[in-house]
Amino acid sequence: MSQALLKVQNLKKHYPISQGLLGQTTGHVKAVDGVSFEIAPGETLGLVGESGCGKTTTGRAILRLIEPTSGDVLFKSQHVTTLNQTKLRKLRRHMQIIFQDPYSSLNPRLTVGGILAEPLKIHKLADKSSRSEHIANLLKTVGLSPDAARRYPHEFSGGQRQRIGIARALAVEPELIIADEPVSALDVSIQAQIVNLLQDLQVQLGLTFLFIAHDLSVVRHISQRVAVMYLGRIVEIADRETLYNNPQHPYTQALLSSVPVPDPRLKRNRIILKGDVPNPANVPSGCPFHPRCSDATPDCKQIEPQLLDIDTNHRVACILKTEQAA
Ligand code: SF4
Repeated sequence: MSQALLKVQNLKKHYPISQGLLGQTTGHVKAVDGVSFEIAPGETLGLVGESGCGKTTTGRAILRLIEPTSGDVLFKSQHVTTLNQTKLRKLRRHMQIIFQDPYSSLNPRLTVGGILAEPLKIHKLADKSSRSEHIANLLKTVGLSPDAARRYPHEFSGGQRQRIGIARALAVEPELIIADEPVSALDVSIQAQIVNLLQDLQVQLGLTFLFIAHDLSVVRHISQRVAVMYLGRIVEIADRETLYNNPQHPYTQALLSSVPVPDPRLKRNRIILKGDVPNPANVPSGCPFHPRCSDATPDCKQIEPQLLDIDTNHRVACILKTEQAA
């Protein structure tokens, strides 16, 4: 990979569980438990997994919207995790987030113009005289009329509100955007429009994306590489074609087997996983996936698999697969 724009190294977010009158810590919920990856400039990395696997927490911990427990995040070689609040605020200009819910992420008391003016004022990017023009350009960039600036968020549809959310993120001219389930609250017909808009913006503005989603079809459409998360860890990471055509981790294989195929004549053997996702406060020993894995051996209960190379640009956390590749 060329020089990475973002490097995430062994990132963890553990929430203490307190009990009793004295609030003693009796355990930890390991929402994110040692996540590492890199994203090159101009690339889109998709981060997928079932709800509760830690992907949203990972996105927020990277931006320090929630403080990580440990690990490191480097943005253009700058250590994000140790920055003081003043420096962090300055850096946030370059790292923006698009939220899942366009209904609740926009201030209902402000006009769209007011919402877009806020980041411009905070980061001193446009003086009063040029602000309106700046806002009109932002709205045009995301496919809205400049007249939208005078209206309030409730006057727009879900897809239009997500466009406003994207315009707000773009206002500060970021290099990296963390898109946290940006289309999952939208109608299917609107989802494609927003995904296409993000792809166009990436080409136009040279943006880099971490695209978080549970929908594997959407992630396939937009990402160049894909990372799969299970119980707070990445279990497989590869370029898109490799991951979708030749998945190696049994969890990735099961997830992909449930994606509908467009041609009804083609049948896919669906892999039904045993049991439910374990409680992240009580992660199974060894490989966290072993209670649900049909390939598990006695070693899988003892040995914690590391995310290791099995091929060029293809890493898997499974002791069987890494032994076979060795
Ligand atoms: Fe399954 Fe064992 Fe591989 Fe874990 S390490 S995915 S339990 S085969």
